[in-house]
Amino acid sequence: MKRTSKILELREIIALEKKRGRNIALVPTMGYLHRGHLSLIEQAKQTGAVVVVSIFVNPLQFGPKEDLSRYPRDLERDASLVKDAGVDILFHPTVEEMYPRSVITYVEVGKLDTVLCGATRPGHFRGVATVVSKLFHIVQPDLAFFGQKDYQQYLVIQRMVSDLNLPIEVCPVSIVREEDGLALSSRNVFLTSEQRQEARVLSQSLNEAERSLGAGERSAREIEKQLRDRISSQCHGVIDYVEVRDAGDLSEVTTIERPVLIALAVKFGSTRLIDNKVVEVENYV
Ligand code: AMP
Repeated sequence: MKRTSKILELREIIALEKKRGRNIALVPTMGYLHRGHLSLIEQAKQTGAVVVVSIFVNPLQFGPKEDLSRYPRDLERDASLVKDAGVDILFHPTVEEMYPRSVITYVEVGKLDTVLCGATRPGHFRGVATVVSKLFHIVQPDLAFFGQKDYQQYLVIQRMVSDLNLPIEVCPVSIVREEDGLALSSRNVFLTSEQRQEARVLSQSLNEAERSLGAGERSAREIEKQLRDRISSQCHGVIDYVEVRDAGDLSEVTTIERPVLIALAVKFGSTRLIDNKVVEVENYV
């Protein structure tokens, strides 16, 4: 595996692979890798492309009161994990390498970035779209892999690629979960054992919401109420949002008759967890 923190060196390595006729697949991450990230890497490898993993904790997507400084990092552990996973190139730039000057050029994906996580994390998706756009220009991938754990992020990137005519196929990857249902996240390490136990309610309540839909419930507000009641009665977490929205464009839904995203964010102490489920009502008609 080749690894570099330098944009110029990465460009040279990639130019060589492109000259050989190879496709390039990019898996952008913030590191502290787990099985969720490895699943993205596996899918990328299955395409036969040269797999590039980037590890960069992007300051631009963290708000001033968020957890940038305490975000977990372990580059050497990550490097050995991606090497074992058969990754071809690891790109781990410093903040100075990515942002040598103060940023005055941003990529903003309107509408999609103001709801759900965008409502409580203003500027977050602008930071994500900007850094992913930079990575796309640096790596020039044919394919890019994004987890559905961050479903809104996936939609934002897909829309950016479409609106800006970027020649990149955006590939979604299903959520990888612990045995008890908790979605894997680098932030799970911050949970106390009690919070870790309680956090099971997130996936359990999403499953219950899906069962409710299966049983004929079609009111988005009623589904949200059921979720909220279950979460607040079964854990000490503080709900940030619980919402049912259109799975294609995140628009508001009153009566559920097309595929919906059931999404939630809950804070356990200072650790904010997100989870979601996409439900196709057609399956239940
Ligand atoms: P992060 O390092 O948290 O920014 O995540 C990097 C990529 O991995 C993003 O596309 C995430 O959606 C994806 N990812 C993170 N956790 C999971 C998970 N549990 N299952 C699937 N994909 C994930």
